[in-house]
Amino acid sequence: MSSIKAADLHSALQPVAYRLDTIAEALKQHQPSDQGAAAIALLRELVDDEPCRLDHNAFCQTHYYDHPCANERARTLLAQLDANEN
Ligand SMILES: [Zn+2]
Repeated sequence: MSSIKAADLHSALQPVAYRLDTIAEALKQHQPSDQGAAAIALLRELVDDEPCRLDHNAFCQTHYYDHPCANERARTLLAQLDANEN
């Protein structure tokens, strides 16, 4: 019966262990941080449901004088986040 030396096993597993560390690190970076989740929750509270009223230059008169307005961009971002969760 052949026996595996601990040193051989260690050197054989080292590249795998390194890859697992890399994968774990990548997964950690893609998870929303507590601050990110708090910012998204705050954004949900702040966005206005009132529809945009655009002037003849397509600038929003309801929220921010912008094109598209910051409220609309925030709503679009939240809708994209919701779509990604489903
Ligand atoms: Zn608007």
